[in-house]
Order: sequence, then structure tokens, then C-alpha cells
Amino acid sequence: MKKVVKFGGSSLASAEQFKKAADIIHADASRVYVVPSAPGKRFSGDTKVTDLLISAYDKAVAGEDVTDVLAEIRARYDEIITDLGMNYSLEEEYEKIARHLKEEPSRDYIASRGEYLNGRIMAAYLGSEFIDPLDVIFFNDEGNLNSYKTQKVLSARLAETPRAVIPGFYGQGKDGKVKTFSRGGSDVTGSIVAAAAKADIYENWTDVSGCLVCDPRLIKDPAPIRYITYRELRELSYMGASVLHEDAIFPVRHSGIPINIRNTNRPEDVGTWIVESTCQKPDHVITGIAGRKGFCAMLITKAMMNSEVGFGRKVLQALEDNGISFEHMPSGIDTMTIVIHEDEFLDKEQRVVSAIHRLAQPDSIEIESDLALIAVVGRGMRSASGTAGRLFSALAEKKVNVRMIDQGSSELNIIIGVENKDFETAIKAIYEKFIAEDK
Ligand code: ASP
Repeated sequence: MKKVVKFGGSSLASAEQFKKAADIIHADASRVYVVPSAPGKRFSGDTKVTDLLISAYDKAVAGEDVTDVLAEIRARYDEIITDLGMNYSLEEEYEKIARHLKEEPSRDYIASRGEYLNGRIMAAYLGSEFIDPLDVIFFNDEGNLNSYKTQKVLSARLAETPRAVIPGFYGQGKDGKVKTFSRGGSDVTGSIVAAAAKADIYENWTDVSGCLVCDPRLIKDPAPIRYITYRELRELSYMGASVLHEDAIFPVRHSGIPINIRNTNRPEDVGTWIVESTCQKPDHVITGIAGRKGFCAMLITKAMMNSEVGFGRKVLQALEDNGISFEHMPSGIDTMTIVIHEDEFLDKEQRVVSAIHRLAQPDSIEIESDLALIAVVGRGMRSASGTAGRLFSALAEKKVNVRMIDQGSSELNIIIGVENKDFETAIKAIYEKFIAEDK
């Protein structure tokens, strides 16, 4: 049995948290590869080290003084080292960073130092080998992960390194220099390492006991999710649920490695299992609810649209020509609705409308804004009858006007569009009906 364990920023924000992480690693000999994030917030209102580093970079390029912010970064690490009782110094590393900032600084290099320094401390503290991702994780010309090269080099390196610490968040860009993933990218590193190590489990240690059915800012103490499939999670994270970086699913999914989300502060909790497929019955018909505000819809009407070959293609052409991606496209006999992100659309609105008129010659185009989309996701829906009925009666009881419905053919989710102002009420109504009343 081999496990890859990734610790998030709050799990490594102080010496106290470091000790918890070390206890977790020592409690199970199969936890052989450790992927640390940079120190995160110790309390609300605190600043993540990655943000301190980015502000140091911004100041340096603006020609401002970086002494104070560098001192703050040093203090964070030195406090961890001292409170762990270690005889260890990062002095040379701090100097390197200060020097780099004086020359032609690279934002990615500076941002990545949070993980790098934490990895060095972690490796020294555990007495483990340190592997620099700069040597083993590679990006391609487009700036995406070069999985082929990474898997080849990293697997070979891990095969000869029985235990190691590999910092998260970065690798080597095409130019040979440090390149980072997008924010939260240590999750992706953990997944890549798990795939390369052919691990049995990828444990992702954070500050919550796994995924919750709903955003806790909308529902107080929502029920936890014990098992969720990669596809369900993808649907929920796309709609705004944030547990894991979206790109973290792909490497492990490809190799069929389950992800176990765990809480560093409550290691006794089982957490959430993210798996390819499972016959574990979901606790409820729906696995999760998520949603986002800020969409708009274009209602396009044309008499006899149903028999006009190529109408849809022309409309989508207008979107493509303007570089806009759409979210949903429910259609009727002579109507077609396109749901788009407001942010993306506002600036280009009139250009898109005139392009559709020119290319597809519809009778009319109406635009509505301030829509919210809610995804009700669950593998259990396929085998339960009456889900849609319960869903819409829950919304009707709370007088929520449903503006759009889209049920994917996978029967894995039902997407409903409501007005922004009804968003919170709608989520609460769905939660009440499917989770709270279902106990
Ligand atoms: N430290 C990076 C960030 O704050 C990456 C991570 O924590 O996963 O985004």
C-alpha cells in the first residue's frame, strides 16, 4: 500500500499545524510521498505566504521597497522552524529570493517559493528526501502540464526514492524556468505525484472534514458527503463548489486512484472519498447542490426554426467569432436560449447580437440578465423516480420562479435557472426537501 499525502496551507500554517501533519504521516507507514502547500492563514484576517510573495514581486517591479514584506515572510518560516525546535536555517534561501527580486524578477518563481521553502522545512523535519518539482514536473508550449514527460521522469525518480517531500504548485516551464499552476495548484501536484507513484490512495489533508452537500455560507452545518464520483464532483466544482482544484481530478482519474479528503485538525473523521465509480448508496437521492449567480440568457426566436438546417451552427458561429463560450443551450420548436456568463458577455453584447442577426437572420433576440444557475447533482437520481417533481414543488412552495431547466442526458444533474434574487431561497428550499427532510 502506497499513499500520497498533500497538506493544504492551513494544515502547515504554523509549527503546531506542522506537528499535526507529521503525526498523521508517522501514524501510517504507507504515507510515503508528501506534497506541502505554502503556509496559509493562521487565523482569519491573516495573510497567506503566497500572497505575501506575490506582493513582494509587485512591489519589486513597481520599484518599491521590499524590505518589510521580505521580513514578514522570513518571520513566518523562522517562527515555524524555531517552534518545531529544529536546528535549521533558510538564510541562504532568503538571500537568493532577495537577490532575485533585485534582478529581473519572475512572478512564478517568486510565488513558488512559498511551497519550496515549506518543502525544505518539511523534508528536514521528517528526515525525508527533497525532490524539487523543477526537475520532475514539466509544462508544454501552451503552458499546460506535459503529462507524458512528467509521468516518465517523475515515475523514474520516485521508483528510486522510497520516501520524499515534493512541494506543490510548480514545475518547469518550456523555457526551463519555474512555472506555477493556477492558484490552489498544490492539489494538482498531489494528483500528479499520486499517478506517477502508482499510489493506492491520494489523501488530500485540509481544514474541513471533506466535501459538504452545500456551501456552508448558504446552509448552516450542511451534511457531509461520504462518497462522490469524479463526475459528480466535476459538475459541482464547475458550479462553484470549491474543495479541490479542478485540474486535480484528471491525473488520478486517469489511473483510477481514489482521492480521500481529510481534516488535519480532526484526523479521526473519515472525510470524503472521491472515486471513479461506486456501489456505495448515496446517503440521499442527491449528492450535492451548487450554484452561481451572474448569468444572462439570449432568447432567439425565428418562425420555422425547427426545419431550418444549420440555424444553430450560425448562432454558435457568432459566439465563436467573438470568443465567447456558452454554458447551456436549451431549445424549443422555434426558440433557442443561450446562457452565457454576464462578465464575459457584457462588453461584447451588441457585437454578438448583430453577428447573430447577420449570420442567422432570426425574427428577434431578447436578452435577460441577473440569472443564477443551480446544479442539483446526484448519481442516485437515475434510479429514483419523482426527483424533478420534488425539486420543482420545493421551489414552488417557496414561490421561486424557475426560468430555465436543463437536465443533462447523463441524468447526473438537473440545472435550473432562477433570478439572482431568488438564489439563496432556492438553494435552501432544495436542501430542506432533499437532505433535511430526508433524515
Ligand atoms: N500556495 C498556492 C496558493 O495559495 C498553491 C496552493 O496552496 O495550493 O494558491
